[in-house]
Amino acid sequence: MVNVLDLQYKSTRGGEAVTASQAILKGLAEDGGLFVPTALPKLDCSLSELAGMTYQQVAYQVMKQFLTDFTEEELKNCINKAYDSKFDTEEIAPLVKAEGAYYLELFHGATIAFKDMALSILPHLLTASAKKNNVKNDIVILTATSGDTGKAALAGFADVEGTKIIVFYPKGGVSPIQEKQMVTQKGKNTFVVGINGNFDQAQSGVKAMFGDKLLGQELDAAGYQFSSANSINIGRLVPQVVYYVYAYAKLLANEEIKEGEKINVVVPTGNFGNILAAFYAKNMGLPIAKLICASNENKVLYDFFTTGTYDKNREFILTTSPSMDILISSNLERLIYKLAGEDAEQNSKLMKELSENGKYSITDEMKSHLEDFYGNYADEQQTAATIKELYEKTGYIIDTHTAVAATVYRKYLTETKDTAKTIIASTASPFKFTRSVMNAIDSRYDAMGDFELVDELSKIGNVKVPKAIEEIRDADVLHDTVCEVDKMPEVVRKFLGISVEIRETYQSVY
Ligand SMILES: *Cc1c(COP(=O)(O)O)cnc(C)c1O
Repeated sequence: MVNVLDLQYKSTRGGEAVTASQAILKGLAEDGGLFVPTALPKLDCSLSELAGMTYQQVAYQVMKQFLTDFTEEELKNCINKAYDSKFDTEEIAPLVKAEGAYYLELFHGATIAFKDMALSILPHLLTASAKKNNVKNDIVILTATSGDTGKAALAGFADVEGTKIIVFYPKGGVSPIQEKQMVTQKGKNTFVVGINGNFDQAQSGVKAMFGDKLLGQELDAAGYQFSSANSINIGRLVPQVVYYVYAYAKLLANEEIKEGEKINVVVPTGNFGNILAAFYAKNMGLPIAKLICASNENKVLYDFFTTGTYDKNREFILTTSPSMDILISSNLERLIYKLAGEDAEQNSKLMKELSENGKYSITDEMKSHLEDFYGNYADEQQTAATIKELYEKTGYIIDTHTAVAATVYRKYLTETKDTAKTIIASTASPFKFTRSVMNAIDSRYDAMGDFELVDELSKIGNVKVPKAIEEIRDADVLHDTVCEVDKMPEVVRKFLGISVEIRETYQSVY
């Protein structure tokens, strides 16, 4: 039934085409490039049809166009397992209108941030892909985290059959709430380890294990293989296209817009995955006018959009929107490749410059294809002021990342006077960044304790404390392993029950 000539995936740096399921299993292409569809697919049903659909139905309509080697049953199975009662609203991604803009709340999943939108379906896409490609081993996800991604991945993979997940985090290098969220994680297949080192050491340790052939053989003998839940996996990108289509459909269903009316989308951006998904939605035929890219003080992308030069050689600034504190936006490579007319050679040249000199400049020709995008940034003071003003005017409380987006939207409006209806991607619940949010509203809140602040936020914002926060208040610590950096492989072996016999067979160096 599956036509091999259907949409496939190729690397942004050249190389062989693979099926969608193979691209999901591989994550990154062997040449270091990112997988992109051989052609961006179009929606094959009308906007008014979509307007009558549930989130799960829209997800199927969008994802089937990208994941062409999945059967209808397989894909619907993945969707139904992902977007269920883990979300605290049947709408999955509700729209809230405030001050004339529509906030698309992407934080109603297990860890109250937008990464749940993709990480709740990725485990199911991965296990379905493994089956399809006759992979017999169980998949072991290895992740190093500086806080947020680790928890979202743990929640996504917990108790998913055929998978195990091991997360390493720097002991003392994540916030107390982030640590508590991880070490209280339930699920027999989950394993959380603090390392006596920093995030870079955790990440290098994980990379070394991925590249360790002997360890790979030991795993294979024990019935396992490593995989990653990295944000460049197309299994994370494709599910993100869905909510833009869904949001448009909802605006149409609620008669906020007419069919075909163009809207703008504002996205608080870090790794460029979320806004790239909006760009893909536009290419599918969704009537989007401008893609507004919002940065915090780490404004590499703003500089890129204004000058055509991407330059990561600069000071790394810690802000109150930490998930956007990024100097290399990995997913931008997919846009660069497209701007270069899908020329893998030209793209590879620019990426080589980036890795060697930390910067590159695109040609004027490439720059001329950027008119869909508008970039700007918000500093810390402006971000806090936006939270306070929006709250005082409307009672609606947004988190710091969303506030960066709202601030940039204000700048865009002042500059352009554009009257198009606009969706702002709301990427985290204010309860995830309670202290920064409450301090923005009134600096006197800083004297309060973490959970006191949570209750106060609930009171002044008139919103229930999310389950994700309630759960960790007095949850039991289930993971207390701490290890030295050089003992990470040992810990992995122990968790997977790799026996001494297997170890001796492969005479591993550890
Ligand atoms: C990851 C994240 C972002 C950035 O999204 P990208 O896809 O990396 O651009 C923004 N806000 C929050 C809350 C996030 O967790």
